[in-house]
Amino acid sequence: MAKKTQIGKVSLAKAFRTIIWPRRKQILIGLVLIVISRLAGLVLPGASKFLMDDVIPNADLELLWWLIAAVVGAIVIQAVTSFALTQILSVEAQNLISKLRAQVQAHILKLPIRFFDNTKTGELVSRIMTDVEGVRNLVGTGLAQLVGGVLTSIICLVLLIAISPLMTLYVLLPVAVFGVVSMKAFGRIRPIFKERGVINAQVTGRLTESLGGVRVIKGFNAEAQEIKTFEDGVTRLFLNVKKSLTSTSLITSSATLLLGLASAGIMGIGGYMIMEGELTFGDFLAFTLYLGFMIAPIVQMSNIGSQLTEAFAGLDRTEEIMNTPIEDSEGTRNIQINHIKGDIEFRDVHFSYDAGKEVVKSISFTAPAGSVTALVGTSGSGKTTIASLAASFLNPDKGVITVDGHNLQEVSLDSYRSQLGVVLQDDFLFEGSIRDNILFPRPDATESELQDAVRAAHVQEFTDRFDDGLDTLIGERGVKLSGGQRQRIAIARAILANPRILILDEATSNLDTESESLIQASLKRLMQGRTTFVIAHRLSTIRQADQILVIEQGQIAEQGRHEELIGLKGRYYQLYTYQARI
Ligand code: ADP
Ligand code: MG
Repeated sequence: MAKKTQIGKVSLAKAFRTIIWPRRKQILIGLVLIVISRLAGLVLPGASKFLMDDVIPNADLELLWWLIAAVVGAIVIQAVTSFALTQILSVEAQNLISKLRAQVQAHILKLPIRFFDNTKTGELVSRIMTDVEGVRNLVGTGLAQLVGGVLTSIICLVLLIAISPLMTLYVLLPVAVFGVVSMKAFGRIRPIFKERGVINAQVTGRLTESLGGVRVIKGFNAEAQEIKTFEDGVTRLFLNVKKSLTSTSLITSSATLLLGLASAGIMGIGGYMIMEGELTFGDFLAFTLYLGFMIAPIVQMSNIGSQLTEAFAGLDRTEEIMNTPIEDSEGTRNIQINHIKGDIEFRDVHFSYDAGKEVVKSISFTAPAGSVTALVGTSGSGKTTIASLAASFLNPDKGVITVDGHNLQEVSLDSYRSQLGVVLQDDFLFEGSIRDNILFPRPDATESELQDAVRAAHVQEFTDRFDDGLDTLIGERGVKLSGGQRQRIAIARAILANPRILILDEATSNLDTESESLIQASLKRLMQGRTTFVIAHRLSTIRQADQILVIEQGQIAEQGRHEELIGLKGRYYQLYTYQARI
C-alpha cells in the first residue's frame, strides 16, 4: 500500500475489547492457575526458613517430614498447573491465530480490485501468515506470565518487608530505577517490531514475484540482480532484528547486573545484622530466596515485554488491513436481482485511475439484453477499463451504469457477479486438474454438463491426447499448457458457468488461426442469448457483433455494425483494412 504505515495505532483498550474480552473465561482460568502455581512456588523459601530456625536447632524430625511433604506437594501443584496453563492458554492462542487469519483473508478477498492493483501479493501473504502470528502473545502464556510475575513480585515484596524493611529498602531503589528505564526502552522497541513487519512484507512480496517470474529472470539473465535485491532485503531484516536484540539484551543484562549488586549488598547488610543478632539465619536465607523470586519476573519482563510489543506491532498491521474498506463497506448495494435480463446501459460514464487523468470520458451506450457489443481500438485506449466498469470491478467517477434499469452501484455484488462470466487474455488457471479448473464456478455441475462445456470449447481435442485426459494436472497457473489450451479451458469454464452477462477480454488472442476458427463457432454459441462485451484484436471475431464501439482515448469515436462502419470509411475502416493486409 502506498499509504504510510502509522505506528502504534491500536490502543490497549481496543486490544482488550476485541482479543482479550471474548476469551475472558480461558484467560481467567489461566490467571487462577498461575496464581496457584506462583503461590506454590513460595513454599520453598518459607520451608527453608523453618528448617534453619526451627527444625535444625530443635532436632524436630516430625516437623522435618511435614516440611518435606509441603515442598513435594508444592512442586507437584506447580507442575500440574503449569501443564494445564499451557494447555488452556497456548491452545487458545493458536485458535485465535487461525480465526484471525481466516478473518483477514476473508476481508482481503472482499477488498476492491483497485486495492490489489496497488498491493503486492507476497505482502498480503505476509500479513496473513506472519503479522497475525505475533498477536498470539496477547492471549498466550506471555500475558499470564506478565500477570503472574507482577503478582509474585508484590507478594514477595510484602514478605521481604516483613523480614527486614531496611534490606528491602536497599534492594527496592535499584529495582525501581530499572523498572522505569526498561518501560522507556520497550516504548522504543515497538516501532522496530512494526518496521520488521513492513520489511518482512516487502521481502516476501518481492520473493513471491521473482519466483513467479522466473522465466523472465532467466530469459534476461537477471539472476544476479534478483539475488542482490533479495540479499539487500534480508540484510535489512537482519539489521532490524539486531537493533531490537541489542535493546532487549541490554535490558536483560542490566537486570542481571542489578540482581548481582543487590545480592552483594544484601550479603553485607544481612551478614552484619546476623552478627548483631537482629536477623536469624533462616530469615536471611528466606530473604535471599524471596528476593530471587521477586526479581526473576522483572528480569523475565524483558522477554515478555518484547513478546507483547511484537503482539501489538502485529495487531497494528493486521488492523490496517481490517480497516481498509471492503467493496460494499457502506452496505448500499441492496438491490437483489435474482434473474438478470441483461440490459446494460452506460450513461455519461467517466473514470480515472489517477486523479486528473481520465481514462474513460463521457461514454454512453446501451447494450440490450442478449446483444453482443464489441469494443475495438488501439492498445491503451480504455477497452479493458470499460469492461471492468461493466463487471463492477471499478465504479464510475461520474455518470451511471445500469443493469435492467437499476443503478449497478446499488445492486448486490453477490447477485450481480453470480450471473456474470469473465474470460480474460491471460486467464487465471489454478493449480490442479483441467477438470477442477472448468468446474471452478460450479463445483456441483453434473458430468454431462461438464462434458458439454468441454466439447463446446474444443477442450477435448487436446485432452484426448493426454494420458489422464481431463484429470491432467496443469501446474501452477497452468504453466504446463500452451496459451491456446489455457484459453480454451477458460472458455469451457465460462460456458459451464452459464452467465447472463459475459465479458470476453481478448479471450481469443492466444489462439492460433486454426484453433480460433475451431472455437469461433462455440464462442458464438456461448454468446447466444447473453449480453456480451467482447474485446478482440482480431476483427474476424467481432464482425457478427450487434454493435461495435470504436474506442479512442477513452471515448467512443465510432459506433455501429460492421457494414455500416466499413461504409463510413473512418477509424474502423482503417483498423480493419490495416489488419486485413497482415
Ligand atoms: P486497453 O484495454 O484498451 O488496452 P486499458 O483500459 O487497459 O486499455 O487502459 C487504459 C489506460 O488506463 C492506459 O493508459 C493504462 O495505462 C491505464 N491503466 C490501466 N489499468 C490501470 C491501473 N490499474 N492503474 C493505473 N492506470 C491504469
Ligand atoms: Mg485491454
